[in-house]
Amino acid sequence: MKEFTLRERMTMARQTMPEQPPGERRANFSEVNLGFTAGLAVLEAQRCLMCSRTVCIDGCPVGVQITEFIDLVAEGDFDGAAKVIKRDNSLPAICGRVCPQEDQCEGACVLARKGRPIAIGALERFVADYERLNGLMTAEPPSVRSGKAVAIVGSGPAGLACATDLAKQGHDVTVFEALHALGGVLTYGIPEFRLPKEIVQAEVAQLEKLGVAFVTNAVIGMIDTLDDLLGEEGFDAVFVGVGAGLPRFPNIPGENLIGVYSANEFLTRVNLMKAYRPDSETPVYDVAGKRVAVFGGGNTAMDASRTALRLGAEKVAIVYRRSEEEMPARNEEIVHAHHEGVEFQMLTNPVEFLGDDEGFLTEMRLQAMELGESDDSGRRRPVPIAGSEWTEGVDMAVVAIGNSPNPLLPKTAADLEQTTRGTLVADDETGRTTKEGVFAGGDIVTGGATVILAMGAGRRAAASIDDYLRGGVWESKPAGVPV
Ligand SMILES: Cc1cc2nc3c(=O)[nH]c(=O)nc-3n(C[C@H](O)[C@H](O)[C@H](O)COP(=O)(O)OP(=O)(O)OC[C@H]3O[C@@H](n4cnc5c(N)ncnc54)[C@H](O)[C@@H]3O)c2cc1C
Repeated sequence: MKEFTLRERMTMARQTMPEQPPGERRANFSEVNLGFTAGLAVLEAQRCLMCSRTVCIDGCPVGVQITEFIDLVAEGDFDGAAKVIKRDNSLPAICGRVCPQEDQCEGACVLARKGRPIAIGALERFVADYERLNGLMTAEPPSVRSGKAVAIVGSGPAGLACATDLAKQGHDVTVFEALHALGGVLTYGIPEFRLPKEIVQAEVAQLEKLGVAFVTNAVIGMIDTLDDLLGEEGFDAVFVGVGAGLPRFPNIPGENLIGVYSANEFLTRVNLMKAYRPDSETPVYDVAGKRVAVFGGGNTAMDASRTALRLGAEKVAIVYRRSEEEMPARNEEIVHAHHEGVEFQMLTNPVEFLGDDEGFLTEMRLQAMELGESDDSGRRRPVPIAGSEWTEGVDMAVVAIGNSPNPLLPKTAADLEQTTRGTLVADDETGRTTKEGVFAGGDIVTGGATVILAMGAGRRAAASIDDYLRGGVWESKPAGVPV
């Protein structure tokens, strides 16, 4: 294999991942990105400068040994590379597809200064796919058992990551999931064209091989409470990873009109209930040939707008109160939405939805905004421009302006302290809550965040649960957590 000099590596072009052409993909639900070939992966890996100060690893919330795995890719040892990643990240095929790499590992890459960071996400995805598609994934329950049982509530990335580590440590792990399908947002929120569900299922199958038990249609708080789990059900500890799936609305007139959806409901109907199929028992409003407005600027808004296009909408517009620069969505999703023909109506906010006599949405009243001073998020605050309102015709509106923590479980456990935002109070390092034996992590603690942050929290909690089960002392109050 050719060895490149440092100078050559610094000037080599970043490899581009092949993708379905925009005109084709906007009419199907198949994956947009097609993944690196082995040849592209090796070429891309050979660009890595192998810096001695691994800033890319510092930029990864779970500390994947990036240079080590990329070195193996450059040598063509893809299975070895997958095993290196798996030491720190149990869901690489998922993270390679959905992590905001530009803000994390790739953002920190020295070559990012030249606008050509190593495509770490695409390489991670490639080796994880290589391992899965070649039947090289391995999992076996450890023979030495701890004799302790842990319940995990919620099967999103936080719960799955926590379950993986605890199972590897020899504990008996049972995951309780409210829905009939496992994976949390990975399954019901992120669409098939970004994250094929067979990948989530393959990861869950690995956990089953590790000995993890899954119970679906189990809403903890309704069937069993946390006290039941820790009492008569015989669990020694519980991890709560119930996420932030409660949609927020702008609280404007007309929100109850037919045709106004939360992004959660719209995406769940399409992703989980396959509402686009004629035989689906949970249909979705027929948008074929119609006008759709999606409110918000995050990944959820991009997913909803691109889903509406695939359902045949004639026109789909993202309506966002700030400018494109402030959008929190991943860059790639914004670019893909543009390419597929989603319109971007920036510095615009809804003030009212209007309907006909039968209660169907027909129009929306909008207002122009301008950017003021920066707010707590560091982004410039949107300020309404007085007297700037106008009305536009619309057939469906999807509200994607954020989610609040799922309230059901916290409501049924009075001794589980919550913040004023409805998130659970839990120690950032250990996941310990205010209730003995109960740990928490992911969106239920941070509010809506990212897959990798949820996984990181799940892993830290697993380490802390392991310590607790092996005789560690329970500290009554999580340290350093604002209430
Ligand atoms: C549409 C959409 C797109 C996104 N895109 C990205 C992206 O591209 N990249 C990225 O990094 N992040 C993305 N995110 C954010 C990311 O998915 C979340 O931050 C992450 O899934 C949080 O993980 P979690 O395990 O905390 O919760 P979740 O994934 O929400 O999982 C929680 C699970 O708990 C279950 N549950 C809730 N209450 C109970 C109960 N009482 N009993 C039993 N089970 C319960 C829920 O049904 C759910 O399955 C996206 C989010 C959405 C909504």
